[in-house]
This record gives sequence, C-alpha cells and structure tokens, in this order.
Amino acid sequence: MKWLSVIRSRLSWKLFFSYLVVILVGVAVLFGTAQFHTTSALTRHIAIMHALLSDDPVLGAQLDDTFHDAVNEILIVSTVAALLAAILVSIFTARRIVEPIRAMMRASIHIADGDYHERVQVPGQDELGGLAQSFNRMADTLERTEQRRMELIGDVAHELRTPLSSIKGVLEGLVDDVLPAEPATFLSMEREVARLQRLVQDLGELSRAEAGQVLLEIRVSCPADLIHAAANRLRPQFDDKGVSLDLGVPPDLPQVKADANRITQVLLNLLGNALQYTPAGGQVTIHAWRDSDNVAIAVQDTGIGLSSENLAHVFERFYRVDKSRSRAGGGSGIGLTISKHWVEAHGGSIWAESRGPGKGSTFTFKLMIGA
Ligand code: ADP
Repeated sequence: MKWLSVIRSRLSWKLFFSYLVVILVGVAVLFGTAQFHTTSALTRHIAIMHALLSDDPVLGAQLDDTFHDAVNEILIVSTVAALLAAILVSIFTARRIVEPIRAMMRASIHIADGDYHERVQVPGQDELGGLAQSFNRMADTLERTEQRRMELIGDVAHELRTPLSSIKGVLEGLVDDVLPAEPATFLSMEREVARLQRLVQDLGELSRAEAGQVLLEIRVSCPADLIHAAANRLRPQFDDKGVSLDLGVPPDLPQVKADANRITQVLLNLLGNALQYTPAGGQVTIHAWRDSDNVAIAVQDTGIGLSSENLAHVFERFYRVDKSRSRAGGGSGIGLTISKHWVEAHGGSIWAESRGPGKGSTFTFKLMIGA
C-alpha cells in the first residue's frame, strides 16, 4: 500500500501516528470509563431527584434520558475538542523533533560532497542536542583533517621544490658544459638526493605517527641504558665538531614504560639538533631525574638558543628558525614533530625552553615510570 510506505518513510508521520494512537487509546478509555461509571452515578443522582420530585415515574424516566443524553453530549464535544487540540499539538511537536534531524541530514549531505564548513544548530540539552553537538564535533574534526591534508600537500611541494631545482640546475649546467663533469659536481647533486631521501623517509614516519598506525612495543626499559646508547652513537660526531657531551644520569633512576626504539629515535633527534645548533667549543648535557610518577630527560645545550616566538613553533611540521642553516645540516624540519608524536603516544609530554637567542636551549620530555 502506497500510503503505508509513505508513512513508514517519514519520521514526522510516524511520530504523528504514534501520538494519534496514544490519543485514541486515551479517548476509548475515557469513553469506556464514563459509560461504565455514568450508570451508577446517574442511579444515585436520579434516586435523589425522584425523592425531590415525589416519585413521578414519567418525569423520572424523562429526567433519566435527558441526563444520559447530556452526559454523552458533553463527552462527545469535549472529546472532539481534545482530539483537535491534540492533533495540532502533535503536528507542532513532531515538526520540532524532525526539523533538527532534517537539518543534520542536509548538513551531512553537504559534508559528503566536500563542504566541511557546514554546521547545525544545537536544538537543546536533550539527546537531539547531544546528537547535533557530536555532529558538529565530527564536522570540526573532518574540516581540520582536510585542512591539515591540504597544508601537508602544500608544505611537501614546497620542500621538494628547492632540492629538485638545485638538481635540475646542476644537470642543466652539465648538459650546457657550464659545469665540469667532476666528482664535486656529482657530490653536490648526491647531497640534494640524500636530502630528498631523508625527507621522504621522515614524511613516511610522520604520516604513520599522525595516523596512529605504528603499534608501540611498550616494555619496562632502563632509561639510563637508552641515554648511554644514544650518546655513544653520536659521540664521534660531537668529537669531530669539538662539542663536549656530558651525562648527568643518576644510577638509581627508575625504569620507564617505553618502546626502546622510538625513545632512542627521540633522543637521537634531540642530541642531533643540540649538536647541529651548538657551535664548536660548546657543551651538551643530558640530565635525567625522577619527577613524581615520571622520569624526565633533558637535553641541554649552550648553542644558538631560541626566541620565545620560535619556542612556540619548534614542534610544528616544517618549522625551522633558519631554513638555510637547517637544510645545510640535512634537516627536514619534521624531526621534532615526529619526536612529539612518539613521546605523546607514550602518554608523556615534551617541551622546549631557552633563555633567548645565543643563550642555549633545553628540550625535556617525560615518560611514565614502569612497574
Ligand atoms: P630540523 O631537521 O630542521 O632540525 P627539527 O624539527 O628537528 O627540524 O627542528 C625544528 C627547528 O627547531 C630547527 O630547524 C631549529 O630551527 C630549531 N631547533 C631544534 N633544536 C634546536 C636547538 N637545540 N637549538 C636551537 N634551535 C633548535
């Protein structure tokens, strides 16, 4: 039946008919009870009237009938009035319930079509209000994700442009015989290719970290061992540059819950940065200490330092204070972003401090103590 399928496909009709059923049941009960109860109430009333009208049987029967009719008339009129009022109210309330749902439906169609600005009005504090709030939150997240995606594509294109144009320049120089085909020329090209390779590698790592795709292998680990291993790996480079590397790690440092590989990566990134941004003759120190339920690890350097404005941005993707300096050191500008992801994936936190340019910087992160 067509009308039945129309009713089934519309929430407003369904709500309206459910109200109507409730009203009709109410009316039937009202009618039944009135009919059932009227006889005994009337009998009592008529007995009193009979007594007052000195037992005239004709008058008594007439009184009986008119009273019955009057009760029925009152019941019918009030039932029709109540029915009309109830129908009007149910149409109004059904609309009020259905309208926000319709608005969400329209907004979700726009979002599905790629328009992420769409939001709905929150109709109140009830479940529908909660649904509208969740809907708006979902739209916010989608919009931010899309924005990040667009920014990432723009940033990556920008990052690829410099090494690619310098490789292209060298190749054109070779073709035109402006540059000599000697090892130095090929070495400069090889450096740019290595930079591209590092960028691609870091981007892969970053996207995996951002998508939460990498499962951490959390084990109870000894932070002192991780610090010593990372320091030993980079010590030759510190010696080559003439920057001293000291450790201030107490022997009774508690164990932490950590994925040893990821935390080693964080330590190598912080140490590598400290080495890169500290001139020869400078000093880098790794401190570690217990801080209530955590172990804090700080990499402190006497290098170029950071202004308060730079401090607010260093963990952002592709942020570099001095682009040419970072590039010269092979930096992709996403090392700290990846480190932040790893530390936060451990439930920890990471931050940077500096007393200003030229006054060194300290990068500290905290990990939870393991059982
Ligand atoms: P990069 O690969 O460029 O080093 P990072 O994400 O590791 O990228 O660091 C981002 C930026 O933060 C760097 O380009 C640099 O400007 C700044 N930075 C990081 N570590 C230090 C430090 N120890 N001292 C001064 N500046 C730093």
